[in-house]
Amino acid sequence: MEEFVQHISEEFKNIFFIKGANNGRYPFSHSLLIDDFLIDTGISSRLLRKLKRNFQLKNILLSHWHEDHISGNRLLPSAKFYIHTNDKMLVQNVDRFDEFYGVSNTPAANEFEWLMDSLKLINTKIERVYKDKETVSVGDDYQIEIIHTPGHTAGHCAFIELNSKIAFLADIDLTKFVFYAGNDSNLIQFEESIEKLKQIDMEIAVTGHRGVIRGEKNIKKELDDYKSIIHKRDERVLSYLSNSKPIFLDDLKGKNLIYKYYSEFKQYEIIAELIMIQKHFDKFLEKKLVITKNNGFILN
Ligand SMILES: [Zn+2]
Ligand SMILES: [Zn+2]
Repeated sequence: MEEFVQHISEEFKNIFFIKGANNGRYPFSHSLLIDDFLIDTGISSRLLRKLKRNFQLKNILLSHWHEDHISGNRLLPSAKFYIHTNDKMLVQNVDRFDEFYGVSNTPAANEFEWLMDSLKLINTKIERVYKDKETVSVGDDYQIEIIHTPGHTAGHCAFIELNSKIAFLADIDLTKFVFYAGNDSNLIQFEESIEKLKQIDMEIAVTGHRGVIRGEKNIKKELDDYKSIIHKRDERVLSYLSNSKPIFLDDLKGKNLIYKYYSEFKQYEIIAELIMIQKHFDKFLEKKLVITKNNGFILN
């Protein structure tokens, strides 16, 4: 078997961890294969072509609309595609991604267009949408339950195969970087989704950019650590606020509040960072930690 196709359980022979190119680093991601159901297609064109030669990939469950999880869809013209209702519109209209990432008419627009072109995204026809807690039967042996985990995107889903207790957590990815810079991202929902996953009975978790994590206790600790990254950012944003002098979103621009270092994609990262800071303010307003004053923010 190809090295990027790995058994993850002695007992459940038809479940495979599919390791994405460049160890699943963006713009690639990892996948999980359960019999003829593949979750996400971002492993890279080269690896997906190889996978197709050895396995039947009849059904594709998409975790969410982001380009790094759907870029292989174009190589699977006869497969049936499934996604959560909330993310359906975007995979069917990839030319609207720039708008949802907030990059249209910004200095990052060209850079973003170049990236989209290089991934050769096409619109995907969705066969069926799923809802929270729905189960999908895979042959006689497997039952995949859909866990709607919004926050990263509005329709982001995780998956648990109920017999093996093997889960795919997609972009609740348990890396050191938590991303919620989409127009459809929501920080309160993101945290609720992490809590929701902590209630799921799972033995092995595969994530979109990290890979395989084993042991229920271990996975739950990793989920807590992941959530604490958000809380540290809360504190960093709050540290700029006072009771009297309002802080404006633009005052916090380009200050590395979320990206420790900006990379060669600095123009985009500065935009993404500002959108994420706005998500913290949305959360603070909802929790009544801050109030607005002259279009800025002060502590409540
Ligand atoms: Zn994503
Ligand atoms: Zn991703």
